[in-house]
This record gives sequence, structure tokens and C-alpha cells, in this order.
Amino acid sequence: MTSTRIAAWDGAYSRSVAVFVWMAALSAPAPASPSPSAPDTAPQITVVAVGDICFAGGVERAARKAAAEYPFSRMRPTLTGADIAIGNLECALTKHKDGLDKRYRFRASPSWARRLADAGFDAVSVANNHAQDYGRVGLADTVTSLRNAGVRPIGGGHTLAEAHEAQVIEQKGVRVAFLAYLGMFPPLLPIAEREPSVAMANASAFARDIKAARRRADVVVVSLHAGVEMSTTPSWRQKSLARSAIDAGADLIIGHHPHVVQPMERYRGKVIFYSLGNFVFNPSPSFLKNPRGPWSGMAHVTVDRSGVVAAKLVPLRIVDRQPRPLKP
Ligand SMILES: [Zn+2]
Repeated sequence: MTSTRIAAWDGAYSRSVAVFVWMAALSAPAPASPSPSAPDTAPQITVVAVGDICFAGGVERAARKAAAEYPFSRMRPTLTGADIAIGNLECALTKHKDGLDKRYRFRASPSWARRLADAGFDAVSVANNHAQDYGRVGLADTVTSLRNAGVRPIGGGHTLAEAHEAQVIEQKGVRVAFLAYLGMFPPLLPIAEREPSVAMANASAFARDIKAARRRADVVVVSLHAGVEMSTTPSWRQKSLARSAIDAGADLIIGHHPHVVQPMERYRGKVIFYSLGNFVFNPSPSFLKNPRGPWSGMAHVTVDRSGVVAAKLVPLRIVDRQPRPLKP
């Protein structure tokens, strides 16, 4: 993208008062009910979650031109400042060139796993419709490169059991379990127990996995890849999946896939972020024309051993493939 085009893009959207008002409304703090049983002295930690991350195409080119850390440089202080930071990695990190027969395939260098770690990510979801773009080999490479870099893959693994196993991260004595699911059907590849796989969302998987996660953690977070691309409201299916994960015992749902930000919701005292939009993603020409395109959302959540204490949706702005806080 040329600098002229960036300026035009910026200018057009900074004039878009409607979008700003909409985003500001979404960002209103929405504290969850504090648990009456939690003592005041209970340790609290912050969990931040961001949306879709894909290094393919223009992002790799922009990073080559500027600096490898370019995509995350404005958000690194926020991500590293949180006790736990997660995102949705929506591309395969592999050198394997044999892709699936599908319209959009996203692949980037495995070295990006280290950049995710440097940026402050503790875990990323790979249960999405692009982690398997380069087949089971591509997914296996992604999982391995993430683990080697110290970033935990969630919702995907070298076997189906690994994909369904919660990743538990403990900070200040608070244990948070992360599960991730792909809520789009049919699966890209046939379900195979002993092959590299992603976890598919359904009520029985939620019930089994969340129950197992509860035994090892105080708080259970479910990352859910579902919904309709470019839609600003959650679909019936998205709502039903997110709510059924809460019915099964999850405390917090982090949604993504629509590429634009959708509202958050309180359901049975728990919190659902339906879609955080893009975080680092090469925009398509049609995406650039969408007034909501340059906006991204970050879930900022405070948890203690009893669950979610407070949650808010923080608006971010994307300028030339780089997410930025609204206030520097
Ligand atoms: Zn997706």
C-alpha cells in the first residue's frame, strides 16, 4: 500500500463520525457481577484477547519493508503488560507448499511464531478455517513452531485429543484454562483422531472439555471461531454456540471470524465477546471500503479465582496493517 493510499484511508475514516460513535458505544465498560464469595484480597489478573492474526501476503511485505516487529510494535506494551495475552492465528506457519483446494489459503514463515512470543502472546487459537490451509502437515508445523517459541496453541494439536485439551496458564495463583473451537461446518479435513486436527465446536465437546478443564483451573475461557464474515451482528448459530459453551461451564467466550467487531453480551452472568475483528491481517480491497474495516476490538478482562470480575471491549484502530491504541 502506498503512503498516499494510507492517508486517504485514514482521512476518510476519521471523518466517519457514525463509526466512531458506534465503536465508542461498544467500548463502554461492562463490569460483570463480582462474586460475593471472593474476598477483597483475592489476586486478580488481566487477560487481554485480540482478533484475527494472519501474516500472509501484505503483512509479510510490510514487515520486510519496515521491521519484523512492525505489525505488533504499537500494541506490544499492552500485550506484554497484561498477565495473559491471547489471539487468533489465522494462517499456517509452515514451509509446506501443498495447499488444500480452496479459494483463500494463508501461509507464512514459521519464524512468525517467535514474533508472536516477542509481542507478548502467551497462547493463540488455531481452531479456525485457515490453520489447515496447508493440510495436516501445515497444521503440525504451526503447532510445533508455536510450541518451540513458547506460545501455546489452543484448539489444535498433533492429535484430536491434543486439540481438545485445555491449555492452563497460571498467573499470581489464578489458573486460567483456554479451549478453542472452530464453529464452521463441515470441517476442512475429515475428523481423524490420530492426525493433526483442530477442535470442532459442539455441545458434547464443550461439556466434556470444559468439565475436564474445570478440574485443573479456576477460570475457563473458550475461544470460538464462528459467524458470518463482515457481519456486525452475531448470527443465530454464533449465539447458540457461545451460550451453550457458557451453559457447559465456561466463564468467558472470545469470538472471531467475522473480521469486523461485533458487540459483547452478558449471559447468565458470564461474558461473551462475539467478534474482535481483525488484528493483524492483510485487508482485501473490499474490506478497505468497509467503514468498519479499520477498527479492531481488544477484550480487556479482569479475572480472579471466582471468574470474571470486569470486562470491557477496547477499540483499536488499524492503520496500514498495524493495530494501534486510540490514545498513544
Ligand atoms: Zn476465519
